[in-house]
Amino acid sequence: MKIATQAVQLGIEWDTRTGAMTVPIYQTATFRHPGLGQSTGFDYSRSGNPTRMTLEDGIARLDGGCRGFAYASGMAAITSLLLLFKSGDHLVVTEDLYGGTCRLFDRIFSQYGLSFTYVDTSDSDAVRAAITPATKALFVETLTNPLLKFADLPALSALCRERNMLLIADNTFLTPYLQRPLDLGADITVYSATKYLAGHNDTVAGLVVVKDPQLAELVYFHQNGAGAVLGPQDSWLVIRGMKTLGVRLDRQQENALKIARWLNEHPRVKKVYYPGLEDHRDHQLIQRDARGFGAMIAFEVDQHSLVEQLLLKTKLISFAESLGGVETLMTFPEVQTHADIPPELRARLGINNVLLRLSVGIEDGDDLIEDLAQAF
Ligand SMILES: *Cc1c(COP(=O)(O)O)cnc(C)c1O
Repeated sequence: MKIATQAVQLGIEWDTRTGAMTVPIYQTATFRHPGLGQSTGFDYSRSGNPTRMTLEDGIARLDGGCRGFAYASGMAAITSLLLLFKSGDHLVVTEDLYGGTCRLFDRIFSQYGLSFTYVDTSDSDAVRAAITPATKALFVETLTNPLLKFADLPALSALCRERNMLLIADNTFLTPYLQRPLDLGADITVYSATKYLAGHNDTVAGLVVVKDPQLAELVYFHQNGAGAVLGPQDSWLVIRGMKTLGVRLDRQQENALKIARWLNEHPRVKKVYYPGLEDHRDHQLIQRDARGFGAMIAFEVDQHSLVEQLLLKTKLISFAESLGGVETLMTFPEVQTHADIPPELRARLGINNVLLRLSVGIEDGDDLIEDLAQAF
């Protein structure tokens, strides 16, 4: 069954008694036991909740993994994964990483003895060179933020196998609809479900999928032990959002390509980063390993003053952080999302004072272009 179809099916077979089309919101902390030493399979909602479980089973199926886990946010999901490591362990990490992940690594987990080396993970040789005897994992974003570089997961996975390292892929930007990292050799995928999976800018959530059952046991131990789980109401919202993942992304990608081409022709735009454009550096590789190019665009304007003008003069497009929802949002990465990245690294990556990022929504693409045109 195709991913879009599987997504629609989420939760519909749960309630066999009434035939309800959606999974109920099990708003309960605890569950009655049928007898001494017996359990219905549910004891306490941190350890397991039917609404959350429907989401967890669903994302595991969509991603082709053995088990899924839902957390209170994307950061909570990544935090829980970092609990797999011990003081002294080292991770190699994508350099143009989501700012919040970078902050979590450098300002929080560095205090517990973990160390991180940032490299361009689209360059397998650079990754190889960064590995030390203490390196336990490679953490990559499969489309990076905001410059949309792509990682060669099969090559990186071969390298991780050879060095006995885990490959963890933050697949937030592509989702299983466009790429399934576990099929390409990753051990774990992680999502900010806040973005495309929930898709409506209405809830914060994180998901993890693990391929190997033994590793999944360990991840479960930490999910239950550390307790950063997603509540039943939010689990339900994510399930509801995920049902339309396919149609949303189809429309978002169609709009994104249209806008990227339009921006590319605009006299005040210096550079457009969109993997669907033929001149994007990873255009070929993405076609090999993914089913689409996503709906994030970064672009450089010719003058800093234009940044504020575009952010404030667009009427349909909102000036806001976050991404992946039905509404089109624009932001200014240098200040809004990547302020926690060291300035030298930002400069090297090309995150500068003329770079804007668009998360393209499901509106009519022509209206979005008209909005940009009047703001220019
Ligand atoms: C937003 C985001 C996160 C963090 O997720 P939250 O749900 O905001 O905690 C992690 N990785 C990427 C790529 C993101 O875009």
